[in-house]
Amino acid sequence: MRVEVHVDKCIGSGVCALVAPDVFDQRDDDGVVILIAEHPPAEHQESAYEAANRCPAAVIEIHTNRAATR
Ligand code: SF4
Repeated sequence: MRVEVHVDKCIGSGVCALVAPDVFDQRDDDGVVILIAEHPPAEHQESAYEAANRCPAAVIEIHTNRAATR
């Protein structure tokens, strides 16, 4: 799994950091997302998916393929 965030379109809602705190954080000043784990380990992948589904700006993309699922 590879996580991609379109930071320029993030509205700083914080849903991602709430749902998947091991994958996402937020900047202190404006709340814009910080991607902590571009390649989250298996135990954090479900929460990464949930964050992508719940992001109100739909700026989180999850990429998967056989070569990058670790
Ligand atoms: S949930 Fe989406 S809009 Fe909200 S901080 Fe995370 S990436 Fe940004």
